[in-house]
Amino acid sequence: MPRIHCPDPLSEGAHLALPAGAARHVQVLRMQPGETVTLFDGRGGQWQATITRMGRSEVQVEVGTHAPIEREAGRAVWLAPGMPANERMDWLVEKATELGVAGIAPLITERSVLRLSGERAERKQAHWQGVAAAACEQCGRNRVPQIDTPRGLADWLAAPVAPTLRRLVLSLEGDARPLSQAVAGDTHEAVLLLSGPEGGLSAQEVGQARAAGFEPVTLGPRVLRAETAPLAALSWLTLGGAAS
Ligand code: SAM
Repeated sequence: MPRIHCPDPLSEGAHLALPAGAARHVQVLRMQPGETVTLFDGRGGQWQATITRMGRSEVQVEVGTHAPIEREAGRAVWLAPGMPANERMDWLVEKATELGVAGIAPLITERSVLRLSGERAERKQAHWQGVAAAACEQCGRNRVPQIDTPRGLADWLAAPVAPTLRRLVLSLEGDARPLSQAVAGDTHEAVLLLSGPEGGLSAQEVGQARAAGFEPVTLGPRVLRAETAPLAALSWLTLGGAAS
């Protein structure tokens, strides 16, 4: 049964027109009145819904029963990557969503190739939020991770972060501990993971991150691309050990 994200809050028994993107999805599948779809609003659980009317562009549904199905990772992991350029950030958002990321804070750093501000940053955020929703439709997650608007690293480090989050920075420096050692023991500890862009973090940025409580961790001797490193760490944190 097709799974469709409807960002407006859903409730049992509601009659509603699907939002434009969701309606297009149903039209493309050439569905007919009486057929059913699974809807989720991104806030938890899913609903079975029956198509009641197919217009030229509008699709009406009746929302049925709510099923409190969750497919979240056992450990909450937030990523804060120095944004890779081009389609690599789309790829990072899609794969991180499938792997169970709790949220993503895209960062602009000294060596970032991709530098976004104002309206362009807002448009990109909306685009990435859509990529995350589409990944949830595909992989079965009913909670859509929040993708923040891109921010400068220094500005982001200055903002308060929940004190219960374990802060880690992916690092190629000699004193970085293996990630597996750093998080050994508590497979449910929530993690906030900072990583660098294509050219890495500058020495000054590494110093700022350490001063803000980010502990350096390594993924081994190979230099991974800016999108590979956070995804590899996320996979280990959400799928490795007894984390799922
Ligand atoms: N020449 C850059 C440097 O020396 O920092 C390479 C940057 S790498 C392409 C992008 C980011 O991925 C790094 O800043 C780091 O956060 C992360 N990274 C890549 N490989 C890693 C590894 N083996 N262990 C930990 N972090 C890694």
